[in-house]
Amino acid sequence: MSITEISHRSKAFDDVINDAKARTRRLLKIDDTYDVLFIQGGASLQFTMIPMNLLPDDKSADYINTGTWSTKAIKEANILNKKVSVAGSSEDRNFSYIPKDLKLSQDAVYVHITSNNTIKGTQWHEFPNTNGIPIISDMSSDILSRPIDMKPFGLIYAGAQKNLGPAGVCMVIIRKDLLEKVPDNLPSMLKYTTFSQKNSLYNTPPCFAIYSVQLVLEWLEETVGGLEAIHDINVKKANLLYDLMSDDGFYRGTAAPDSRSLMNVTFRLPSEDLEKQFVAEALENGLGGLKGHRSVGGCRASIYNACEMRAIETLVDFMKNFQQKNG
Ligand code: PMP
Repeated sequence: MSITEISHRSKAFDDVINDAKARTRRLLKIDDTYDVLFIQGGASLQFTMIPMNLLPDDKSADYINTGTWSTKAIKEANILNKKVSVAGSSEDRNFSYIPKDLKLSQDAVYVHITSNNTIKGTQWHEFPNTNGIPIISDMSSDILSRPIDMKPFGLIYAGAQKNLGPAGVCMVIIRKDLLEKVPDNLPSMLKYTTFSQKNSLYNTPPCFAIYSVQLVLEWLEETVGGLEAIHDINVKKANLLYDLMSDDGFYRGTAAPDSRSLMNVTFRLPSEDLEKQFVAEALENGLGGLKGHRSVGGCRASIYNACEMRAIETLVDFMKNFQQKNG
């Protein structure tokens, strides 16, 4: 029987999930003070579960708004009638930068950030100093793309579909002391404690997705050689593209240079017509997925861990040629 047929209660599947957890711990250099959970519902369910589990009604949390996904995280906390303070935002310049001027409250229960803003093409390169208040980060689009110091983080989460594997599972890494704050009266499937106590096997988990995550983690550890190694590659990949961009050039990066994402390179061409032509001609040359997110337009090269250097080199050659013909 294959992984899609065997029981999730079998030793074979136990080995898969335990190996995925162990590899995550080794890659991120985290010990037993954190638990690694696999939850369905995508990163979007975490927008709800985080305040539901970790933000008591009489306390407040700080959220930094750096784009579409942070905005959605704030929206869900508001739906639950939780007290949320927006402690920083880059909305004034269309979320094109990571804000440095933060108004963090001293009694916030946590500070929520989005470490990489998939749509806007910005990324936190240095995490905020929160004076010991746990940071919670949506790392859906940059988890395991670089080494991080986990100490300031109380919880990180990532929908699998960018750097971890196929959609259908969300990885949540939570500091165990925060589990003690989870209220008893939540539905079982919305409680972090349920997943922690049952090794993410309270009900049938997305076995195939978790198995794929295990394989990706194995590749990252054994073939690539860990997070320092993938980070080096990611920096080289992104720089090849950013080197083509300048404020007054043919290709104009939309993110402020100090906030540029290593995962999502967003840029504009001199006109929308040229952008359409660029995306169409790129596709004819085997280079797909370059259209910017429908909410912002322009172009975007999403160059996650699995995107190989030679794909970037091919794209760079194409971009140079396109500029020569149309610039
Ligand atoms: N956060 C970020 C940073 C994302 O990029 C995405 C998806 N693109 C989401 C949240 C939403 O993830 P999901 O579709 O798994 O709910």
